[in-house]
Amino acid sequence: MKDFVKMSNLSLPEPLNLIGGEWKPAASGAEMDVISPIDGEVFARIADSDKADIDAAVAAARDAFEGGAWSELTAAERGRLMIRLSERILENAEDLAQLETRDNGKPITQARADMKVTARYFEYYGGAADKVHGEVIPFQRGYNVEMHREPHGVTGHIIPWNYPAQMFGRSVAPALAMGNATVLKPAEDACMTALAIARMACDLGFPPGAINIVTGRGEVAGQALADHPGIDFISFTGSPEVGQIIQQSAARNFIGCTLELGGKSPQIVFDDADLGAALPVLVNAVIQNGGQTCSAGTRVLIQRGIFDEVCGLLKAQFEGVSAEASDHDDAKLGPLISAKQKSRVETYIDEADAPLMARGRIKDGAPENGFYVAPAIFGPCDPKSKIAQEEVFGPVLSIIPFDDEKDAISIANGTEYGLVAAIWTRDGGRQQRVAKAMRCGQVFINGYGAGGGVELPFGGVRKSGHGREKGFAALHEFSTIKTIVNNHG
Ligand code: NAP
Ligand code: MG
Repeated sequence: MKDFVKMSNLSLPEPLNLIGGEWKPAASGAEMDVISPIDGEVFARIADSDKADIDAAVAAARDAFEGGAWSELTAAERGRLMIRLSERILENAEDLAQLETRDNGKPITQARADMKVTARYFEYYGGAADKVHGEVIPFQRGYNVEMHREPHGVTGHIIPWNYPAQMFGRSVAPALAMGNATVLKPAEDACMTALAIARMACDLGFPPGAINIVTGRGEVAGQALADHPGIDFISFTGSPEVGQIIQQSAARNFIGCTLELGGKSPQIVFDDADLGAALPVLVNAVIQNGGQTCSAGTRVLIQRGIFDEVCGLLKAQFEGVSAEASDHDDAKLGPLISAKQKSRVETYIDEADAPLMARGRIKDGAPENGFYVAPAIFGPCDPKSKIAQEEVFGPVLSIIPFDDEKDAISIANGTEYGLVAAIWTRDGGRQQRVAKAMRCGQVFINGYGAGGGVELPFGGVRKSGHGREKGFAALHEFSTIKTIVNNHG
């Protein structure tokens, strides 16, 4: 596999960071291996950066923001550059998708879809760059009051490994659109496409320092970025544990942050649901990205009258699912990201406090050193059981029976998380009642969308975090309001 990076048409990362428009090794010279989950082989190397590199990246972003070429662009010019980047991503989508699959392990068909979404982030926010504007506020006679929407300045971005390209677009594109200069610390387990896309941005003439990328370990490079007094805002996606650390760092620096921390999202199936439509979506919750999706609908709540029927259907679909090498078109379920994640998920499966309802397989011939886990469904689960409460982040579904609408709402809201919910019913009144009762950031009725939906504000409550990404809401997160009061007499 060593030749993969060379074979690709992408001009690809040696172990270098992007700082102030230049590609540089870590100041210490340290590097680390990049392992493919498909076969456990090292296929590239990245910079193992530390505080010195973060210091340099934050300084470069500051220069870009204050007086640098980035600060001189109009909103329309920023937007145009971003749209060109979107087009460049699409032109190279196949190479990027191949790289994403090698790096992250997700099935190639999902990686292709991810590249479209990534391009869409730059298109959407590029188009929005010159459409966010202030207001004139009616006030006392003799005054002119204007509300301006301004960039924060230097924004920090820490993203996870589950959707490396998409997360780069989701986090960085709205920040750029508002005119911030960005510093990104991607996850060490999968960061190659973010580097490749940043390379494209450089080739397209993004001014130096607008996008800086520093790779390395979370507790070193990530922590240095979160703690840095030179950043004005931080956007984090990942685990609740690290989210708390980020928020503490933000508090010490008196800056704002958005936290997107995952979930245990319910899909509620009422007895009048269109099961033909619901079923593939329910199963997909664990297949898409191997269940390693913050918004995966991993708790399936089924009304008692149809419980046995739906479980039977789920079981039949599920037993045909197998994990396999994901770099070919037929693969639906690939390996998990790492040996650590595989062992974490296997522990949840082995120690589950609910009956095993069905188990998929690992396909014969799957590479021995890849990180494959056979998917599992558990049920009927007590709503308070560990397997029905905690985010597994793997191909594991928990099935819970419920009696009526009230019961469904109470179970659905009965975890520490609150990210997404789905309601499957034909009853219009119930659709509205239950949607309004959900304590979470996004509700789907007779459908489900994990990922994608670039236009749709997205984020959580409670342990799922706070703040909103996607849609225009993200542009508001990445900007601040200044009110100018002019007593003109
Ligand atoms: P994580 O540790 O929270 O990692 C997320 C990001 O934070 C990565 O870029 C990571 O860098 C960085 N990071 C880690 N420690 C840091 C620190 N002290 N300061 C600043 N940045 C830091 O998540 P994980 O270990 O990859 O996954 C653990 C669990 O988190 C998963 O099993 C899942 O339940 C959840 N998770 C949720 C999401 C989501 O989309 N909401 C995504 C991923 C994971 P490195 O990876 O380079 O260390
Ligand atoms: Mg990797």
